[in-house]
Amino acid sequence: MLALKRSAGVLAHFARFAADLVLPPICPGCSVAVGDGNALCAGCWSTIRFIAPPLCPVYGTPFAYDLGDGILSAEALADPPPFRRARAATVYGDVARRLVHQMKYYDRPHLAETMAKAMRRAGGPLLAESGVIVPVPLYRWRLWRRRFNQAALLAASLSRLTGLPADPFILERMRATRQQVGLSATQRAENVRGAFRVPEAARAKIAGRGVLLVDDVYTSGATAKAATRALLRGGAAAVDVLTFARVTR
Ligand SMILES: [Zn+2]
Repeated sequence: MLALKRSAGVLAHFARFAADLVLPPICPGCSVAVGDGNALCAGCWSTIRFIAPPLCPVYGTPFAYDLGDGILSAEALADPPPFRRARAATVYGDVARRLVHQMKYYDRPHLAETMAKAMRRAGGPLLAESGVIVPVPLYRWRLWRRRFNQAALLAASLSRLTGLPADPFILERMRATRQQVGLSATQRAENVRGAFRVPEAARAKIAGRGVLLVDDVYTSGATAKAATRALLRGGAAAVDVLTFARVTR
């Protein structure tokens, strides 16, 4: 396992070295030339909206004003989620969208490291109270087309940064689901209902433990909620959700 990890690290390092030889490093947010292609330029840093308190203690949505400790958002009161808490590093704006897109489609998986650092800051207490990090899985066919799962890359980076184990085999996507883009909230929930499960053999790994579910973007919450329900059915004591970005209304 250690040898495998090490060789993956060497490979990633080599891939980055090779990419740097071919292309000068550019900002992943806006494509201007920079010293390090995994870091945002100053302009992008200033426009990205990192999420910081005050925020809803359950959904992690930013509040415009500090309402005091323990005050829940209207969403948390009206629709209590199955997960304990959700947190995200940034608001899903232009720069965050480009970062996610670059990591997902342009074979720049090392960007995950930069994004995971922001997630570690946003998810401090969640990381402290979790026993294992579980990425939201892709269906096999989609994984094959894309070659890697962006949530698994973020989970692996978070694991390296924090020492918490990450395990992409605890949760399984049993069927292909339509892309959530363009679906209404009800359609999204319908689309992912019953799509996840914890295989029998993985149950012992989460029995009675806190699980940190990781994904790139939190949109309607339909995916996070369906995955959380599967983890709780599989025996997890509690589930927290940590994403790089989240859509805010
Ligand atoms: Zn930039």
